[in-house]
Amino acid sequence: MSRVIVVGGGASGMMAAFRAAKNGHEVLLLEKNVKLGKKIYITGKGRCNFTNACDVQDFFSNVVSNPKFLYSALYAFDPQRMMDFVEGEGVPVKVERGKRAFPRSDHASDITKALESAMKKANVEVRLNACVSSLLVSDNRINGVVMSDGNQFSCDDVILATGGVSYPSTGSTGDGHRMLSSEGIAVTELYPALVPFETEEKDITKLQGLSLKNVNLKVFDGKKICFDDFGEMLFTHFGISGPLVLSASSHVTKILKDKKITVSVDLKPALSHEKLEQRIIREINENPKKSFAFLLRRLLPGKMPEVFFERLSFDETKNLSDMTRVERSLLINTLKNFRITVNATGGFKEAIITQGGVSVKEVTPSTMESKKIRGLYICGELLDVDALTGGFNLQIAFSTGYLAGESIR
Ligand SMILES: Cc1cc2nc3c(=O)[nH]c(=O)nc-3n(C[C@H](O)[C@H](O)[C@H](O)COP(=O)(O)OP(=O)(O)OC[C@H]3O[C@@H](n4cnc5c(N)ncnc54)[C@H](O)[C@@H]3O)c2cc1C
Repeated sequence: MSRVIVVGGGASGMMAAFRAAKNGHEVLLLEKNVKLGKKIYITGKGRCNFTNACDVQDFFSNVVSNPKFLYSALYAFDPQRMMDFVEGEGVPVKVERGKRAFPRSDHASDITKALESAMKKANVEVRLNACVSSLLVSDNRINGVVMSDGNQFSCDDVILATGGVSYPSTGSTGDGHRMLSSEGIAVTELYPALVPFETEEKDITKLQGLSLKNVNLKVFDGKKICFDDFGEMLFTHFGISGPLVLSASSHVTKILKDKKITVSVDLKPALSHEKLEQRIIREINENPKKSFAFLLRRLLPGKMPEVFFERLSFDETKNLSDMTRVERSLLINTLKNFRITVNATGGFKEAIITQGGVSVKEVTPSTMESKKIRGLYICGELLDVDALTGGFNLQIAFSTGYLAGESIR
């Protein structure tokens, strides 16, 4: 039996502590906040989309950074096992659109309660208000941890589960990255991901609050397309957001560090260029005495027509019968290719996930143990792994936490 310290009482730390204790180890969980799972409470807009009921292969296609590193963890503890675990703790589960799994109650707190209850039954000792400041290491072997008040705890194994740096108000402030860097363990550069975009054009702010469903969004880095997908986006007071934009951010956050990028929105993706032209010609023929404003209001929602008039320098009072071929072509091109310049992503304060973290080269994927320091295990968002929205990030935290706990001998 080992004496194990788990640092961090989030999704991965609680799962790791439970699993190690269930295997008969003596486990002490140290959490710096006054309660466990502070981030879990705000996940899935308070409903906690705790996993995705897809098969494991589909799962990997939603992982943005280092999917191969996660093979062992995901096969050791897959989404079905996570759902069984939650139901086994008395929390019924439901699966919604896109195979997103939630507690049937729609209360994120039920997921934390399930983890707390499992830890309690397995005899995990929990200390709150307990901030770890460094690791005790000698001869490449972990011996314990040092607390911020100077106290020390000795142990045989440590599982570090301190999270990333996004939403720092929940406790994930990069402590784990600092502790590991000072032990010579490589941490890659950190970027905010699943985060809104800040845009350049002033006219975009006029569209604040407008949500567009079923649009196509392409992101260009010069001429190269680095993201191309369909879905929903939203205009905000500083730029653009919504599910499509958040997904795009995970693919381009590194590029945006050094330069601007261009986003192209196809506002009519269901219509080809030719079909859209036929539709516009039909409108013109049926309403020749109506104004340009009439046509644009039929084609576009909210304040979009205003933005189009400015961008195209159209006279909105002009009759449709007077629309020239050039004007028609300009209109179609802008409907199919509405350009927005992205200056930056939002910061870590509003990022759902951190991209980057402990280099996966530092960690044995079949155990989550550090290759440099024996007895030190690393799991959750602290690692350089991240995925798209849909329950994948929490499942990564649970799977890597489970594998770390399971690997202690
Ligand atoms: C707004 C928002 C919504 C999200 N929604 C979803 C969702 O619906 N589905 C999904 O899959 N993912 C979602 N995520 C992502 C998901 O919450 C995280 O990926 C996941 O919580 C990471 O778990 P973790 O245990 O690695 O880290 P964390 O949950 O960040 O836990 C780390 C813990 O370590 C503690 N800690 C840190 N430093 C120390 C220290 N020095 N000493 C002691 N304790 C310490 C912290 O206080 C914290 O409790 C969301 C994230 C955000 C911000």
